[in-house]
Amino acid sequence: MTDTIFSKIIRREIPADIVYENDDVLAFRDLNPQAPVHVLFVPKEPLATLNGATQADAPLLGKLLLAVAEYAKREGFAEQGYRAVINCNEDGGQTVFHLHVHLLAGRRMTWPPG
Ligand code: 5GP
Repeated sequence: MTDTIFSKIIRREIPADIVYENDDVLAFRDLNPQAPVHVLFVPKEPLATLNGATQADAPLLGKLLLAVAEYAKREGFAEQGYRAVINCNEDGGQTVFHLHVHLLAGRRMTWPPG
């Protein structure tokens, strides 16, 4: 997998507003927020897209989602609600090819998405 901007953030080579970290996951605020809260959760071990995930990545995928929920509870908006999104490839709107979960909160989300 080629290096992305997210790998550089993980290595602290470029700045980011980091809001959560554990052994496997780093989370930082999106540069171009789409909601009052817009945080990106990335695995420290890079994986380009969800398509590349294998059975061996199942624990990591679980840890990513658990990190989202833990952060939402910690920040106090879990009960009010939020959205967790993974964009995959062109039609999914993926622009950074290091798997990430968008956490969006702080406003009412619409469905279906645009
Ligand atoms: P995607 O479109 O791949 O699902 O999401 C990529 C996200 O990364 C976008 O929402 C975009 O605003 C965000 N992003 C792109 N470059 C940077 C950056 O250098 N720093 C941060 N914090 N977010 C970025």
